[in-house]
Amino acid sequence: MRLSQMLFVTLREDPAEAEIPSHKLLLRAGYIRRIGSGIYAYLPLMWRVLKKVSQIVREEMDATGAQECLLPQLQPADLWRESGRWDTYTQAEGIMFAMTDRQQRELGLGPTHEEVITTIAKDMIRSYRQLPVHLYQIQTKFRDEIRPRFGLMRGREFIMKDGYSFHTNEESLKKTYQDMAQAYSNMLRRSGLQFRAVDADSGAIGGSGSQEFMVLAEAGEDEVLYTEDGQYAANVEKAVSMPADVEPSPFATFEKRETPGTETIDKLCKFLKCSPTQVVKNVLYQAVYDNGITVLVLVSIRGDQDVNQVKLLNELTKLAGNYQAKTVLFLTVPDAEAQRKWAAKSLPLGYMAPDLADDYIAGSKEVNSKFLRLVDRTAVDLTNFVTGSNESGYHVVGANWNKEFPLPATVVGVRTAKKGDRAVHNPEQTLQSARGIEVGHIFQLGTKYSQAMGATYTSEQGEEMPFMMGCYGVGVSRLAQSAVEQSYDKDGIIWPVAIAPYHAIISIPNISDAQQVEVAEKLYAELNQSGIETLLDDRDERAGVKFKDADLIGIPYRIVPGRSLKAGKVEVVERATHKSQEILIDEVNSTLKQWIEAAVS
Ligand code: ATP
Ligand code: MG
Repeated sequence: MRLSQMLFVTLREDPAEAEIPSHKLLLRAGYIRRIGSGIYAYLPLMWRVLKKVSQIVREEMDATGAQECLLPQLQPADLWRESGRWDTYTQAEGIMFAMTDRQQRELGLGPTHEEVITTIAKDMIRSYRQLPVHLYQIQTKFRDEIRPRFGLMRGREFIMKDGYSFHTNEESLKKTYQDMAQAYSNMLRRSGLQFRAVDADSGAIGGSGSQEFMVLAEAGEDEVLYTEDGQYAANVEKAVSMPADVEPSPFATFEKRETPGTETIDKLCKFLKCSPTQVVKNVLYQAVYDNGITVLVLVSIRGDQDVNQVKLLNELTKLAGNYQAKTVLFLTVPDAEAQRKWAAKSLPLGYMAPDLADDYIAGSKEVNSKFLRLVDRTAVDLTNFVTGSNESGYHVVGANWNKEFPLPATVVGVRTAKKGDRAVHNPEQTLQSARGIEVGHIFQLGTKYSQAMGATYTSEQGEEMPFMMGCYGVGVSRLAQSAVEQSYDKDGIIWPVAIAPYHAIISIPNISDAQQVEVAEKLYAELNQSGIETLLDDRDERAGVKFKDADLIGIPYRIVPGRSLKAGKVEVVERATHKSQEILIDEVNSTLKQWIEAAVS
C-alpha cells in the first residue's frame, strides 16, 4: 500500500478524550476514530491488526478441533426468558440493548450467545454419539456498558471470539477446558503479550472451573494477586489468603464506652488504643432480588478486613430462594437517599452493632422487614471484642458472641484478600499485587443453561440428560489494544511483529530523487511479492515527518533508501530498539524474512 493513496491522518497532539497511552496512540496514529460513546470505527490499519489477531485466534481454536460458525446478533427475548436472564440483562446491569420490532416482538442485540447456542444444541444434538462438540465464532458483540472507556478496552460494540462446548460428562468438559487454557496461552504468546492465567470468579454458578487471562499492564482495570513461587494467581474478586493473626484483646469485661467521633475503625482504634483485629465491624448493604424484593444485609466482619462485593453477591445469590427469588439484580451500600426509602428512623451509622434492631426497617411489600445478618469467618472466633452499641457516639468493649450478641446463623467468607497477606498454600509466601487487563475468560458452565432451557440428549443408557457445557471468550479488539498498552515508547506504538498491520515501511526521504524512488519501488514490489507486508511512504513530505509517522504507527522495520545508496545499501531501522544498520539492497528481502520469522516463532 502506498501512503499517498491511503486514508492516512496522524495527529501531533494527544486527543483530549483519551486517558491511557494505548487509547491516545491508537487515536493519534489514525487506527481508530470515535463515533459515539464506546463506539469506534476500525480504520484500515486497525482492521489489519484485528484480522491478524483473529487469524491467530482462529488457528489456535481450529487446532483443538473446534468449528467456526456465525450466530445471529439479533436474539429473540423468548430465548433469554427461557434461560431466566432477560430481566438481569435488560434491567439489573442493563447491559443488553433491547428493542421491539414492527410486530411488537422483543429482541436483544447479542452481548453473548449461551442462549442461542443452547437452543441450537437442543434442536440438533439428539444422542451422546454426537458429543462432545465445540462451536465458536468471531463476531461483534453489543453491551451497553455502564462506563464505556479507554477506547477499544471497554467498548459498547466490540469484537469477541466466543466458543461453547457440549459434553456428556465432566471429564470430557475438563479435557476441552484444559485444551482451551492451552489454546488461550498460545494465542497470547503468539500475539507477543505478557500475561498471566488467574483463578477467576465464576459467579453464583460456583465450581472451580473458571480462569481469566490477564495481560499485565498498569492501566488494567483488574487487580491480580499472586505469589512469587508461581503456585498461585487469582483475580482479587476470587483470591483467598490467610488474614493477619488476631492481637489479644485488652478488654476483659463487657462495658459500654463513650467514644465520640469514632465512626471509622481507624479513629475508634486510636481512641480505644486497640487493634482493628479486635473489632467487629458491621457493614450495611442493600440487595434487590429479581422479584423486586429489597433485603437489607448486615455483614459483621473483623475490623481490619474489607468485604468483597463480588463474594458477597455470590453468597446473596445462594440465599435467593429464601426470598422466593432466583438472583440478585443490584447490590449497593445504601446512601442517604436509598435509606430514606426504607429506614423507619435514622441509623446509628458508624456505631452499628451486630444486633441492630429490625425496627429500623419500615417493611413493606417490596422491603423485607428483617435484616439478613451474615458473619464473615474472620469475626466468628473473636472474643472480648469491640463493636458498636447502636447508639451514636458509643461502642461496647469486651463483647462475646452468644453472650451479648447472638452469632448470626449464616457464616460466610466474603473478606477481600490483599497484597501482603500470607498465601494459603504456603504461609511463607505473601501475596503480591499487579494490574491486569482481562482479555480472555474460560468457564466450566456445567448444566446451568441446558437445564434451564430443557436442552437434553439421549445418553448411552437411554436416559434424557442435560448437556454439560463450557464457554470460552477472548476479546479480540481488547487484546489488540492491550498489545499497545504493553508496548510503546515516547515516539509511538511498537507493535509485536505477529500482529503489526504491516511488517515494513519504506520511507523515501526525498521523492524528487530518482534513484531513491527507483530503489524504493523495486524493494516495495519485491518485498510484497515475497510475503513481507510492506508500506511505501511516497508522500511529498519531509523525511523527518515520514520517520516520525513511521515510528508513531509502529511498523516493526523501516527501510530508508538514502545516503547509503552510494554503497548499494539501504538503511534498515528496527522500530522497537531504533537500532539501524545498512544492508545491501539485494539482501534486504532475505534479512527481513529471517528477522520476521524469528520474531513470530
Ligand atoms: P469485564 O469484566 O471486563 O466486563 P466480562 O467478564 O464481562 O469482562 P466476558 O463476558 O467474559 O467479559 O467476555 C469475554 C471477553 O470479552 C472478556 O475477557 C474481554 O476480553 C472481552 N470484553 C468484555 N466486555 C468488553 C467490552 N465492553 N469491550 C471490549 N472487550 C470486552
Ligand atoms: Mg463485562
